[in-house]
Amino acid sequence: MSRLLILGSANADHVMNLEYLPSAGQTLMSRGYRLEHGGKGANQAVAAARLSQEGTRVDFICHLGQDAIGQAMAQAWQQDGIAPEGITYTDTQPTGTAMIFVGDNGENMIGVSAGANATLTPEALKAHYPLIDQADYLLMQLETPAVTVLDALQRAKAKGVTTILNPAPAMVIGKDLFRLVDVITPNETEAETITDIEVIDEQSAKLAAQMLHQLGPKTVIITLGKQGALLSSDKACVLVPGVEVDAIDTVAAGDTFNGALMVALGEGLSMQTAVEFAHRAAALSVTRQGAQRSIPYRHELAEV
Ligand code: ADP
Repeated sequence: MSRLLILGSANADHVMNLEYLPSAGQTLMSRGYRLEHGGKGANQAVAAARLSQEGTRVDFICHLGQDAIGQAMAQAWQQDGIAPEGITYTDTQPTGTAMIFVGDNGENMIGVSAGANATLTPEALKAHYPLIDQADYLLMQLETPAVTVLDALQRAKAKGVTTILNPAPAMVIGKDLFRLVDVITPNETEAETITDIEVIDEQSAKLAAQMLHQLGPKTVIITLGKQGALLSSDKACVLVPGVEVDAIDTVAAGDTFNGALMVALGEGLSMQTAVEFAHRAAALSVTRQGAQRSIPYRHELAEV
């Protein structure tokens, strides 16, 4: 049985649609409101759980507040098949929250409160070491404290676990972290933040990939939106084209890609076939609205 472990954030996304984005001091009536289950870690864990086959175990290390939305999210994850052991409730902070305004022209404005996500410290992580030790793959992002990501990477490498880092959202972090990463999966913006190379096409993506290799990861996958992804390893450096679909909402596309990639690697597929599998899952997710609710199930992949 293969064991997939995701460590990361969970957020309640409060999304309001407005005619235009408000200016300071202005109050606007919204056209619509919805509460979404989001957060990069949770999105990726849901993707892994929905896309994996029987016999794969998916664990998710995260911190939630002791509140109704935290409980609702955990319940939904359990229905998707995520094992509950890594999910911890803290009474010192509410569940992470994002307030998102979306204007009619598609522009948005977002405020995030890390809440319980910030309490996932290296100290708190110790309780979860057994999950790391038993994992085959560990997937993380950067919405949890960087010191915790570093600690988890150190533990994972010491135990022979394959590590995948999706360095999102784009932020500057200590370069020493990258030498503990086996597979790194930035999008164009995140690749640029790390390498200072503006990634705009295949050529610039190749240059950025070379720099990323120098930092440590043996496999670099730079996702390029609807164009697909550049896959670079010691075997090859190729553009793996995406799947053409009518995109309506790209929220959680990268998260679906990462969760799917992990599932495919866990099933022993080659890196290139795993990227193709991840493209199919992410392409389906962009044909639907929302974060976790847009993530496809395994049986739906036959559609693309
Ligand atoms: P992020 O969502 O993190 O910004 P990207 O925009 O690079 O990342 O998208 C990640 C993956 O999602 C792509 O590699 C591709 O597989 C898929 N994807 C994103 N946008 C589209 C699209 N318009 N059509 C088809 N697939 C898409």
